Amino acid sequence: MIDFRCDKCNKLLGKFRECRELEIKCPRCGELNQYKAIEHKIQSKPAKKKWAAVSF
Ligand SMILES: [Zn+2]
Repeated sequence: MIDFRCDKCNKLLGKFRECRELEIKCPRCGELNQYKAIEHKIQSKPAKKKWAAVSF
């Protein structure tokens, strides 16, 4: 379980295990806390630049 705490006052707002998006307004300070699961997708681009022979 992952603790979901307020960014502002550090109050424990809830706990979750698997969540993609979460939005809880803190009852203490009124801060709107948002959580978004970030999927790490590394796009590997074959960036190989070869010097082209220029012919006139
Ligand atoms: Zn708060």
